[in-house]
Amino acid sequence: MVSSLLFVAMAVAGETDIRHPRAPDQPLPIKFTPWFCTACVKAKMIEAPAKELQLMSMPAERLLEKIGVKRSWIIVESPNFLLLSTLKGVRVRAGDSRFVGGDLNRLKEIFPGYTGGSKGGYVTSHQRAHLYHIRLERIHAHFAALTGNKKKFLGMGGRYQVYLFDAEEPYRALAEKVIGRAHNKKNYLVRAHVPGEHNYYVMGTTTKLFKSDRALNSIVAHQTGHMLANGHRNFVRVVWGFLEAGAAHYYERLESVQHNYFCLMGVDFPAEFVRGNWRKKIRHLVYRKKDPSLGGWCETLQPHQMSGVEHALAWSIFEWLVTTDPVRLGKLMDKTKDTDKKPTAEQSIEDVFGVSPYVLHDRWRRYVLKNYK
Ligand SMILES: [Zn+2]
Ligand SMILES: [Zn+2]
Repeated sequence: MVSSLLFVAMAVAGETDIRHPRAPDQPLPIKFTPWFCTACVKAKMIEAPAKELQLMSMPAERLLEKIGVKRSWIIVESPNFLLLSTLKGVRVRAGDSRFVGGDLNRLKEIFPGYTGGSKGGYVTSHQRAHLYHIRLERIHAHFAALTGNKKKFLGMGGRYQVYLFDAEEPYRALAEKVIGRAHNKKNYLVRAHVPGEHNYYVMGTTTKLFKSDRALNSIVAHQTGHMLANGHRNFVRVVWGFLEAGAAHYYERLESVQHNYFCLMGVDFPAEFVRGNWRKKIRHLVYRKKDPSLGGWCETLQPHQMSGVEHALAWSIFEWLVTTDPVRLGKLMDKTKDTDKKPTAEQSIEDVFGVSPYVLHDRWRRYVLKNYK
């Protein structure tokens, strides 16, 4: 009796925190220590020996010079991420992310006496950098638990690198001069795999387009979903779009359903999926039998080759599998890394679920009709 009461109390208290994807009645342990942070060192908040930080495979000072960042930068190195932030302080509101309460509580472990909590709170530029440090490690912990992946950096060679700027110029310089990607005014976003000796993923963006912290957090979560799905067991072959985009939309919408990003470029932005309640819209599609079966599009590799509706379905199918069969979802993710047999998506689904993608889709339809309102 005592233990069940305790469980109920924990479940209520944990509402603003993440749950373990393979055991939803349990909280998810998140390892965000140890960390190194240039601002913590300056403020004597941590005792750490001097460290030569490498950003984009070069000394941090050289990278900062190349992208023209002279002041107000903070670099945080955490167990799985390297974060460069020039973000300003901001008020984080309870509705900005489902996990504001849990994340701001964790922030107190870095900033003793911090008073924000489940109702939100103001974060200084330094605290904001650590809020992203915590958010990124939280998403990583969830994905690693979901896929049962215990490998360092999930199997990549180095930490996932994240660059968050409060101005356009350093973001452009990072994209164009360092990563070698054309700047696209539509999305203010760069994401790349850097192969070779260091073998890591990088993403960068700016508050130019994502002005509120909710919008910025949503896009960072989305891009992190892309990076982790590709980084899972090392990037050895292109991951099928329904899994990669599924993971990206899943982690974005887990934070907040108010911002929905389609990687913008090349995808028709379906007006009905820009905001809000996708469940209702998806149920409507299924009810009218207007949902294209996964069997017809599961082999599509690049998310930008998928239609807007397929993006929404990829989210829903991914979420359905996280909710109902996370172990098999993990096994399916593993198939994307099988370089011996190089199975197709259809073969992989048949192997893992014992049915064709068309039948898997029909199972998903039944779930949607029963559970989506
Ligand atoms: Zn710090
Ligand atoms: Zn995307």
